Amino acid sequence: MAKRDYYEILGVAKNASDDEIKKAYRKLAMKYHPDRNPDSKGAEDKFKEAKEAYEMLSDASKREAYDRYGHAGVDPNMGGGGPGGPGFGGFGDAFGDIFGDIFGQGARGGRSAGPQVYRGADLRYNLEITLEQAAHGYDTTIRVPSWDECETCHGSGAKPGTSPTSCTTCGGQGQVRMQQGFFSIQQTCPKCHGTGKIIPTPCSTCSGAGRIKRNKTLEVKIPAGIDDGMRIRSSGNGEPGMNGGPPGDLYVEIHIKAHPVFQRDGDDLHCEIPVSFAKAALGGEVEVPTLNGKASFTLPEGTQSGKTFRLRGKGIKGVRSGYAGDLFCHVVVETPVKLTERQKELLQEFEQLTNAGGSKHSPQSKSWKDKVKEFFE
Ligand SMILES: [Zn+2]
Ligand SMILES: [Zn+2]
Repeated sequence: MAKRDYYEILGVAKNASDDEIKKAYRKLAMKYHPDRNPDSKGAEDKFKEAKEAYEMLSDASKREAYDRYGHAGVDPNMGGGGPGGPGFGGFGDAFGDIFGDIFGQGARGGRSAGPQVYRGADLRYNLEITLEQAAHGYDTTIRVPSWDECETCHGSGAKPGTSPTSCTTCGGQGQVRMQQGFFSIQQTCPKCHGTGKIIPTPCSTCSGAGRIKRNKTLEVKIPAGIDDGMRIRSSGNGEPGMNGGPPGDLYVEIHIKAHPVFQRDGDDLHCEIPVSFAKAALGGEVEVPTLNGKASFTLPEGTQSGKTFRLRGKGIKGVRSGYAGDLFCHVVVETPVKLTERQKELLQEFEQLTNAGGSKHSPQSKSWKDKVKEFFE
C-alpha cells in the first residue's frame, strides 16, 4: 500500500511552521483519539497515521530527510528508526508534549526523570464572624496546622545512623510506566509514593514522615465590607510540598452569622420595621437601627403594611466597590393584641365611623371587592 504524504495527512503546506504542524496534529489527534472512537478501526488507523506524520515532521532532522528523500528517508519500518520503534507501542515524547498542555499535566513538574515534585495541598479555614465585624473590618488570630522539619532525622525520615535507599520498584524514579492497551501511562510509584526512596528504618520521632505537625497562630486582617463566602488567601501557609515542591496556600473562608435585625443582600441591608396601625394611619417619624447607630425616616399618612422605605448609603460599604449600599426598611403594620374593654369600645366606635364613611377609608378592600365581583360575574 502506497503511503500518503505526511503533509497531506496533516493537511498542511510543505512550508508549514512547527506551530502549524503541531496545531494540525492536535486537531486530528483529538478527533481520532482511540479513547473517543473505541471501536473504530478507521479512526485508529487515522490516529496512527497522523501520529507518525507528526513524529516525522516535528523533528527537524527527520523532516529534512523526508523533504529530500520522501518516505524512504525516514521510514520507521526500515532499520528500526523512529521514536518508540515501529507500530503503536510506547508513546514518544511527542505525545507527552501535545497532550501535556491539553490536559494540563505540565503543571505537575514536567516529564523529567526523577521523583516528581508536588506542590502542597491548599488548606481551607472556615471563619465565622458577625455582620458588624464584616461591615467594619475585623482583625483576629486563628490557629492553623503547620509542619516543621523533624529535628531527630533532619527531614530525611530515616532513623539517625541509617539512610533511605533507592526504591527498587521504580529504580528511584518515583514513577512507573504501565502499559494499558494503546497507552503507556506514567504513574506515581505505589511503593515509594513518588519520592523514589524507601526508608528501611523510619525515624521514631516522625514515623518516617520527616516532618512534624504542629499548630501555629496566624493573624488575619478581614477587610471592611467582606461578604459571606469570600476567601482571604494566605500564601504559602497550606500543606508543605513533596520532594522539594512549594507549599500550598491557606484560604480563610468567611461565614457571616445570621443577624437578629438585618438581612444582607450584597452591599444592601434589609430589615423589618413593625409599626402600630394607628401610627401607620396617622404617619410620623420612625426610628430605625443601622450598623452605624440610629437613623429615622418620616412615615407618611396611610402607610400600608409591606411598604418599603429606602435609606440611601445606610447599608454596607462594599469591599470591592468602595460604595455604601442602602438600607431597605420593610414596614409591617401590627394588629394590636390583648386589648382592654375601653380600647375595644374605641375600636368598635372607630369601625362604625369607618364603615359609615364608605369605601374611601379602605382602598385595598375596595379594589379586592371589585375583583371578586368581576370574578363571579
Ligand atoms: Zn524524623
Ligand atoms: Zn518507587
